[in-house]
Amino acid sequence: MSRRSGKMRRVLSRIFKERQIYHRSDGVVHFISMSSKTQIALAVIVGAALLWVAYASVNVVFKEQIIVAKDRDSRIMETTYSKRLHDAQRAYDDVSELNQIIKQNFDETLTDISARHQMLTNMVERKASIDAGLDALAKGLSEAGGPNGQRPTNGNRVMIDVAPGEPTPRQSRMSAARKLGAKQVRESEAKGGASEAIKAMNKAAADLYTEQMLLLASLEEKATTQREQLTLLLESAGVPTETLVTPAKISNTMLAQGGPFIDIAAGGEAAAEFYAHANRAAAAVDELAAIHKALQNVPLSSPLTVGRRFTSGFGIRRDPINGKYSRHNGIDFAAPWASPVTATADGVVHFAGTRSGFGRVVEINHGNGFITRYAHMNRISVKKGQKVSLHDKVGELGSSGRSTGPHVHYEVLYKGKPLNPRRFIEAGRYVFES
Ligand SMILES: [Zn+2]
Repeated sequence: MSRRSGKMRRVLSRIFKERQIYHRSDGVVHFISMSSKTQIALAVIVGAALLWVAYASVNVVFKEQIIVAKDRDSRIMETTYSKRLHDAQRAYDDVSELNQIIKQNFDETLTDISARHQMLTNMVERKASIDAGLDALAKGLSEAGGPNGQRPTNGNRVMIDVAPGEPTPRQSRMSAARKLGAKQVRESEAKGGASEAIKAMNKAAADLYTEQMLLLASLEEKATTQREQLTLLLESAGVPTETLVTPAKISNTMLAQGGPFIDIAAGGEAAAEFYAHANRAAAAVDELAAIHKALQNVPLSSPLTVGRRFTSGFGIRRDPINGKYSRHNGIDFAAPWASPVTATADGVVHFAGTRSGFGRVVEINHGNGFITRYAHMNRISVKKGQKVSLHDKVGELGSSGRSTGPHVHYEVLYKGKPLNPRRFIEAGRYVFES
């Protein structure tokens, strides 16, 4: 260290060795002596001055360029920032557009499901009210029992053996409904972007669609089966059902229900399929309603609800009074004197009084061409024009007119033509046992 600083001192003292500056004025020579220290001090001052001048010059010369560079940097930053802002805005717009699509899709799907649900609800409610009506009728009819007063042997209803017309297996119906559900998913995916949310929603909607289709199919199947059973039942009694029940027209079906008729051409294929099924199911329910309504006024019960004996059948027989063969236009039941004789269906009293041979007789008009006749009564308890319901008392059992003992002679007339009442009572049994 001391050796290096000694060397440095030697170099400096060699450069700045003592110097004398001479000058002459007015013939006199003067000299100034400058020591090494003085020279070093001068050199430092001059050097510092030179550095300052250099710095100032560079500053002046390059200032402009520095400003330009700074400006450029800030402009680059600004552009980058606004680009990012723009990207963010666009991303936000994309999201909100997607939301819009999802919302629109959701709204449409919900509207579809709701419309279908409303239609199904109407149909199910309508079917339930028909079923309730049929149950009430069955309960009423079961009070009188069969032709000899037989009651249902157990609480369970026995289905009457009706061969259903080409039943569609439930399995194939289910797979058909699922296929349509999948088709509906594809249709809605083609309609609006296939984001995950939309996919999930479409899947749920398709499941609901399948459920609704199955419900529709089962509704149609049940209504059709019931309608077929009731038709068969009426036909077994000799009632020509085609005159009682006019087949439902599909175009009237939805309007009759108070709902709008759905144009099956509108909407996708799956929707069209649903409404085609719905129209068919509604027609089946309509037909069931029509036959139920007709059934209300068909005399399906017995004129006696008390214990009785079936004494004489319908058709050609030997007359109990004169022994000659003649036609018996009704059936006879024997029961204790003054037993209540009751109406076999709802209707209006058409005649109440005495007729030759029949004695004291009541005739009830049930509408649709049906009239029932209750003869040989001891007393009449209704007046002409009076409204009666099933099992309302119309009189008391007696032996008036052409009679050999206490009994009721009962007739069913359809458009003036006598039909076998026993077949009606048997048919009535099927209503409460089926
Ligand atoms: Zn008779």
